[in-house]
Amino acid sequence: MGDRLQDSADYQYSFDIPAEMLDEIQKNIEEIITNFPVPEDNKLDVIKKINFMYSHTRHMSLTDGLTGLYNRRHFDSTIEREFSRSKRYGGDLSLAIIDIDFFKKINDTYGHLCGDYVLKEVAYLILDNFRKTDLVFRYGGEEFVVILTETNLESAKIPMERLRQKIENYPFTYSGNKVKVTVSAGVSCNCTESTDEFLDNADKALYKAKETGRNRVEFFR
Ligand code: GH3
Ligand code: MG
Ligand code: MG
Repeated sequence: MGDRLQDSADYQYSFDIPAEMLDEIQKNIEEIITNFPVPEDNKLDVIKKINFMYSHTRHMSLTDGLTGLYNRRHFDSTIEREFSRSKRYGGDLSLAIIDIDFFKKINDTYGHLCGDYVLKEVAYLILDNFRKTDLVFRYGGEEFVVILTETNLESAKIPMERLRQKIENYPFTYSGNKVKVTVSAGVSCNCTESTDEFLDNADKALYKAKETGRNRVEFFR
């Protein structure tokens, strides 16, 4: 696994703190530092520790414990920002929803822990497949979304097809069992009024990919 993924052991300790509450915590910390009588020679240590705790908490609130990817909450705020940016400055923006095929069957056949193993590996393969300027999120159970910045539908085809093939050919192995894994994906690009419609279009394309046989990438046109 790449070092961009956090250790899965963090999973059991992860908790969600809303962004507004984090701002409130930050304010409180600043107040404590200003008013709390910490001995002068300890002040730097205390500030360092609080800073560490704060950034750790922030990280936990934006990421998913199992895969280390950004979580759904972070997606919701990021898509709004990238959507407005692309509308305002006219850049291309593509959105991909990637869903593992017959994932329930993997859980049922090999167990939940194997399902978790597959999720982690797929997360890594997705992260590894895209540019550093693209953003990868775990959207829900076995669904991932990728925001492809400055990318039109035509340009999105290359990394999407590459990812589909990579996953199809990756040697997933759990407890000595070879596990066959494929994904289906739907992609939408630009030209919508709202982020909801943008997401809905990608979802429609995903539905088509599922309907027409799975292990496919479909594009909303
Ligand atoms: P399709 O090809 O139509 O997408 O079929 P599917 O089986 O992938 O889809 P379905 O929505 O029926 O099942 C999704 C499964 O994902 C069901 C749920 O138990 C499993 N799942 C969701 N989150 C997790 C998780 O964190 N770990 C594990 N192991 N399984 C999960
Ligand atoms: Mg699904
Ligand atoms: Mg699925």
